[in-house]
Amino acid sequence: MSPDTKELVAKALDLGAFAAGVVSVEDMLETSSSQYVREKALADLDLGSVGPDKKAAPHWRNKALSLLILAVAHPKDEPQLDYWEEGVRGGTRGNKILITINQKLGQWLMGFGINSFDVPYYPEKGGLYLKDAAVLAGLGVIGLNNLLLIPGLGAAHRLRALALKSEFVTSPATDYNPCPGCPAPCLKACPEKAFTRKAGDSSHSGPQSGYKRELCHLQMQKNIKKNSGKGKAIRFCRRCEEACPEAKV
Ligand code: SF4
Ligand code: SF4
Repeated sequence: MSPDTKELVAKALDLGAFAAGVVSVEDMLETSSSQYVREKALADLDLGSVGPDKKAAPHWRNKALSLLILAVAHPKDEPQLDYWEEGVRGGTRGNKILITINQKLGQWLMGFGINSFDVPYYPEKGGLYLKDAAVLAGLGVIGLNNLLLIPGLGAAHRLRALALKSEFVTSPATDYNPCPGCPAPCLKACPEKAFTRKAGDSSHSGPQSGYKRELCHLQMQKNIKKNSGKGKAIRFCRRCEEACPEAKV
């Protein structure tokens, strides 16, 4: 018998994911981020990528019915998981772990006759907005630091998606929300002052609401410039992520 969502999520956790959940492609296409991508035709989507510039079609939109969203822990004391390194599959060791889990899940699903495929990380390379997808898949909530917060991990995680060609029931939503009542050290940690929102702000969703993405990108470009060069790994800023006390691992 084919696995259901609960069994699929349990298998993902068994293979090393810290959290996982399912969202339907139909629901994902309704998000403001998906609509934004359609309107902009992927023209303005430079997210600080260090990979090749080539744009790719988002096949998950018309070739899949559901999406499994996976998170692996990215502890503060293992910064190397996030370094961009030449020759590492997926660009970083964290990404490589996620790709390997997806590969094993794909083989397991194939045993039930279910086809699936790994979804690239960047939207302009055929991917999707993983934070939005993760919220819809019940993994967590978007925090004041504009990052996805997952119970037990806060923002200290990395995400990836597996597109499923069979329909799985969407995972239940979570009511986890640690930001109200938090003094928000994340907002003060930013070297670029990218946050204009304050502790206790309740309406912080949306890219233009109290967060200047372009200032964060400026910091990314500085990191790329500072750390690139032969044999050097690129280390991105994680200050707003690391300042969040929700990370317990
Ligand atoms: S990643 Fe760094 S630069 Fe970007 S918003 Fe967070 S603290 Fe600011
Ligand atoms: S530091 Fe506090 S306000 Fe900021 S994301 Fe974490 S829980 Fe939310």
